[in-house]
Order: sequence, then structure tokens, then C-alpha cells
Amino acid sequence: MGTNLGSIAENLRQVRQRIDRACTECHRLPSHVTLLAVSKTCPAEAVRVAWEAGQRAFGENYVQEALQKIGALADLRAQIEWHLIGPLQSNKTRVVAEAFDWVHSVDRLKIAERLSDQRPTHLPPLNICLQVNVDGEASKSGVDFEALPALARSVAALPGLRLRGLMSIPQPAPSPEAQREPHRRLHEAYEQLRQQGLALDTLSMGMSADLEPAVVEGATMVRVGSAIFGARG
Ligand SMILES: *Cc1c(COP(=O)(O)O)cnc(C)c1O
Repeated sequence: MGTNLGSIAENLRQVRQRIDRACTECHRLPSHVTLLAVSKTCPAEAVRVAWEAGQRAFGENYVQEALQKIGALADLRAQIEWHLIGPLQSNKTRVVAEAFDWVHSVDRLKIAERLSDQRPTHLPPLNICLQVNVDGEASKSGVDFEALPALARSVAALPGLRLRGLMSIPQPAPSPEAQREPHRRLHEAYEQLRQQGLALDTLSMGMSADLEPAVVEGATMVRVGSAIFGARG
């Protein structure tokens, strides 16, 4: 991991500036795009430095690694948001329901039901995004567009969860124009669900390489790792 603690604050500033510029281009308000700092493989120290620079929402991929960091940063717990963005197996749902604020990678009802049942009642409902497979055959995780409406309705009805929106991890594309296509499809699906009465407010799409096309297509949350913390080893 090439985290240079000294460059995190400046990197955050530059990423925020990229978001602001993309917003200006498409006449959106920068305050409508949340930056999720993806801290997977980074030490807790790096998260603390980003937090001190004003960053509050952090994304993690691996449950065990995240739990260690959440523990190491327990003094910040009331002022930090932890998002699980990586795959979640059913034997890990209990610790996730207890430790996280958000899960972006739900793509099956069984996982959602477990998270809802296991969410401690003294905590607010766990915020959920459904991961959508925007590339069809090319990718294995994520619900496909056909199955999405039924899954969304079922998840929205679970008492321990609050369905917030949709998330995607598109295949890399060669040009900014090509990068917009899967983001556009996800936005369409999101608007359809909203028209059907689901109170969604989150489109989690765009990473270091494609945050601008994602913002132009309506992302409300971009998940940025390497542009903030450096290339992962
Ligand atoms: C690692 C990861 C990111 C961040 O990717 P970068 O290219 O480092 O910005 C975003 N979302 C998910 C789901 C990831 O696994």
C-alpha cells in the first residue's frame, strides 16, 4: 500500500475539486454529491488523517479489515460513517449489521433479511444500496435489471433496513463517453423505482477513474480510493 499520509489532505482537495468541476459542467450542486473515501487496504492512521482533513464517510471492502479499523478509530465513531462496499457473505451479516452504517453491495433478499433481523434495535435502520449488474454477462455480482424491481420492493419493506438506492461497479470503458453508458442505465432504473413510489435518494456510482462521467449521469455518491490514498499495492 503506497499511502503517503502527507498527501492525503491535498488529494482530497483535488478530488473534491474534480467533483465540483463536473457539477459545474452539468449544472448540479456539488453539495448533492457525497464523496465516499474508499480506505480498503489503508491503515487506520490514513483514515484518521483524512478525517482530520474533514472527510467523514469511508468505504471498506473486507469485513475483517474494516472491523479492525472501526475498532482502532472508536473515538471517532459518533462523527464517522462506515460503508461496506465489498461482497457480503451470509456468515458475516451479524457483525456487519452491528458495526456499519451503510451496505452498498446487497444483491440478494436472503442477505437483506439477515441484515434486517440482525440490526440492533438501539441503532437506526441500516442504510442499503442494491448492487446492480449493469454489464449483464460480464460481471457476476449484482442483481440484474429484470429482477431489480421485485428485490427493491422486498428490501424496502424490511424493518431493520432503509433502502437508499442503487450501486454499480461497471467494467472499465475506453472513453468518457463509453463510461457514461452504464451510469445512464443505472440512473434510468433508479428513476423508474422512484416513480413506482420507493423513496430512494442515493445513486452510488463512479470511482477514481470515472467520477466525472458518473456525476454527469447523476451520481449522488462517488466512491474514490486510489485518487485519495494512492495506488494499492
Ligand atoms: C476499490 C473500490 C472503489 C474505489 O476504487 P478506486 O479506483 O481506487 O477509486 C470503489 N468501489 C468499490 C466497490 C471498490 O471495490
